[in-house]
Amino acid sequence: MKKTSNRKLLAKVRAFSPAEQRAARATRIKVFEAEPYGWIAYSESGTERDYHLFCDPEIKHLACTCADFVYRGNAEPGYECKHVSAVLKFIARQYLAYEYDPQLQVTRAA
Ligand SMILES: [Zn+2]
Repeated sequence: MKKTSNRKLLAKVRAFSPAEQRAARATRIKVFEAEPYGWIAYSESGTERDYHLFCDPEIKHLACTCADFVYRGNAEPGYECKHVSAVLKFIARQYLAYEYDPQLQVTRAA
C-alpha cells in the first residue's frame, strides 16, 4: 500500500510542466530594483550572471535579457523565464504592501 502511494507521488513530481519547474527555480532568485528603471534578478548560487528586466511598453509585459527569454520568448508568446516569474512575485509583494486599494479593485472589476 505504501509503495503504491510513493510511486504515485513520484509520477506526480515528474508530471510538472517545464513552466512549473521554472517557477520552482524562480524561488531561488533574488530581485531588486534597478536604476534608472526595471529590475535586476540574480541567482543566490552565484553561478549565473545578473539579468536586467524591464516592462515592454508596447505589450505591458516583462522582458528579460537572459538567453532563455530571448530565444524561447520569440517562439512562445507569453513565455516566462524563471527571472520573469521571480520579478512578478517581487512586484506583487510591493503592490500589496504599498499600492493595493480594495476600492480600486472593485472599480476595475466593474
Ligand atoms: Zn530571464
